[in-house]
Amino acid sequence: ALSEDKGPAPVFYSRRIQHEALRFIRTESKLYEALEKEEFELWFQPQVSFETEKPVGVEALVRWRLPNGELAPPGEFLPVAASTGQILRIDRWVLEKACATMNAWRDDNIGLQRVSVNVTVEDIDAPDFVEFIKRALDQYQLPPPSLELELTETTFFKSSPANLEKLNLLRSEGISVAVDDFGKGYSSLNYLHKLPITTLKIDKEFIENAINNPTSAAIVETIVWLAKKFKLETVAEGIETKAQVEFLRSLGVTTAQGFFYSQPIPEAELREWIKYYR
Ligand code: C2E
Ligand code: MG
Ligand code: MG
Ligand code: MG
Repeated sequence: ALSEDKGPAPVFYSRRIQHEALRFIRTESKLYEALEKEEFELWFQPQVSFETEKPVGVEALVRWRLPNGELAPPGEFLPVAASTGQILRIDRWVLEKACATMNAWRDDNIGLQRVSVNVTVEDIDAPDFVEFIKRALDQYQLPPPSLELELTETTFFKSSPANLEKLNLLRSEGISVAVDDFGKGYSSLNYLHKLPITTLKIDKEFIENAINNPTSAAIVETIVWLAKKFKLETVAEGIETKAQVEFLRSLGVTTAQGFFYSQPIPEAELREWIKYYR
């Protein structure tokens, strides 16, 4: 249909691209200043054990507070940061902040065992990736199991043998490694036993549909079965309803995460949430 379109559509299309390009360039230059101006915030979404119903950890999720007070979601600026190389600096800020915060939580005994951070290919590619993480754990006196790295399947697939070796090293130190959005990408059975992973995070799309769509339910069941075979922890992401909680608990999923428990929230709110959660 596009090739038959000889009218004004192509002009409209190029304007749209121009607009997108401009937006991209503006975001890129603002991102450069964002770290110096301390415009990033680290928010946290609790993870709850199905067995004990207690919060066990949190996922750290970056937010960008724009000068006009608005909050930019990571889905908008992280793709720009990834293609301009700025993601490395952002993720290092996140890791450092996550470790510093975990240190404070341990001092105050708030009962969280673990903080999970998202990492990408660019992060792992850095020659000092392992050093940087070990130094952060050291600086904030954290036992390695209190840190989890989340990588998407795509990141695993883009990982060179050298990068897999780095993950193996961190794994052998006791740091947890999760496959994020599991089921969304390639989900090759072939890599499950080869990769240094501890956790499968079931993609929220399957959780969203698990109650109404038998295929999604079957996929979730299969992932949980698989995880048990490989002795991996399972985290169900994107839980929004009681029905989903009950279904996932009946399957023996380890850990729950989603708006049903809490949205991602700032640190002060998380402390309040933990106080009043039962
Ligand atoms: P993710 O790692 O899969 O994080 C989960 C996303 O799902 C979060 O979106 C969270 O707000 C959302 N979510 C959680 N529970 C629910 C739910 O019950 N329903 C629905 N509809 N959504 C839920 P967010 O914070 O916008 O982050 C989006 C993605 O951006 C993340 O997906 C992650 O891939 C990336 N990201 C976030 N922070 C960082 C970071 O510091 N570094 C890197 N490299 N990536 C990050
Ligand atoms: Mg994640
Ligand atoms: Mg996890
Ligand atoms: Mg995810």
